[in-house]
Amino acid sequence: MMFLPFCTTLSLRRALRFLLLAGLVSASACTDEPDPTAPTRDDNLALGNPSGATTDEKQPTNYLLSKPQFALSYHRDRGIPNWVSWHLSSAWLGSAPRQDDFRTDAALPRGWYQVTTGSYTGSGFDRGHNCPSADRTRTLDDNSATFLMTNIMPQAPTNNQRTWVGLENYCRTLVDQGNELYIICGSYGRGGTGSNGYATTLDDGRVTVPARCWKVVVVLQVGTDDARRVFADTRVIAINTPNRNDLNSDWAGYRTSVDAIEQATGLDLLSAVSTAVQATIEARVDNGPTQ
Ligand code: MN
Ligand code: MN
Repeated sequence: MMFLPFCTTLSLRRALRFLLLAGLVSASACTDEPDPTAPTRDDNLALGNPSGATTDEKQPTNYLLSKPQFALSYHRDRGIPNWVSWHLSSAWLGSAPRQDDFRTDAALPRGWYQVTTGSYTGSGFDRGHNCPSADRTRTLDDNSATFLMTNIMPQAPTNNQRTWVGLENYCRTLVDQGNELYIICGSYGRGGTGSNGYATTLDDGRVTVPARCWKVVVVLQVGTDDARRVFADTRVIAINTPNRNDLNSDWAGYRTSVDAIEQATGLDLLSAVSTAVQATIEARVDNGPTQ
C-alpha cells in the first residue's frame, strides 16, 4: 500500500482502494512518477554560479539577479551583465510573439543607474540579448522578461544579427532533436566597432561596449538530475567572438574551449560539475555539427 499516499484526495484514494481490492487496476495507476522523457523547466543555475554572484548591494560589480526565465550577474558600473545563464528545453518554447518591450529593470537596487533603451539610441550598436527572445516563447511574460535592459549588451549589428543568431538558432535545433541545454553567455573587455565605428562606452560612459562576446552551451539528452549527467563525453560548445561589425557571420569559426573563456574572464564555468569532468570537457574544442 506504499503507493497510496501519492494520490491526492481522500475520495480518490478510497475509489482506487476499492478498485485495487477488486483487482481492477494495477498499483502503478496510482503512482505519480515524473516521466523522465518529458521536458521540464529546470534551474537556470543548475550547472553553477560562475562568479559566486550574490544579492549583496555592496558588491555592485557582481550582483545576482535571478528571475524565473534566467539568472545573471550584473555589473553596475559597466551597465551590462557579466554573464547570463539559462536552461533551454521545449518546455520554454511556444508561440508567444516577440514583445520588443525593452525597458529598465526595476529589480536593481534603488539608486543604481537604470540603463534604458535610449542609452543605445544612435550608437551604432544593437541592443543585443544575452538570453534571446526566441528562447522564451511559452508565455508573454517569459518573452517580455528577455527585454529587460539587464539582459542586454551593446553588440555590433553583424555579430548580433548574423554570428550570434546563428548559434542561437542552432541551439533550438538541438532542442528539436531531443536535447535540453544549459547556456551561459556574457561579455568582457572594453571597446567594440559598431556600424558607426569604434566606441568604448555609450550613454556618457554609463554603458561599456564590450570587446568580446562569449557563449557556452552544454548539450544533454532530455532527462532529470542534469548536473549529474554531465560526463566527459558530454558535448559542450563554446565560442568567443570579437564585438566588431566585420566579424565572420559563421559562428563555428569562433569555437574555443571553456578553459580559454575562464582564463579570459576569471569565471569558473560549470562549477556544479565534478572537477574531473570539468577538466576534460573544458579543455576540449567542439568540432561537432553546426546546423
Ligand atoms: Mn532537465
Ligand atoms: Mn569550470
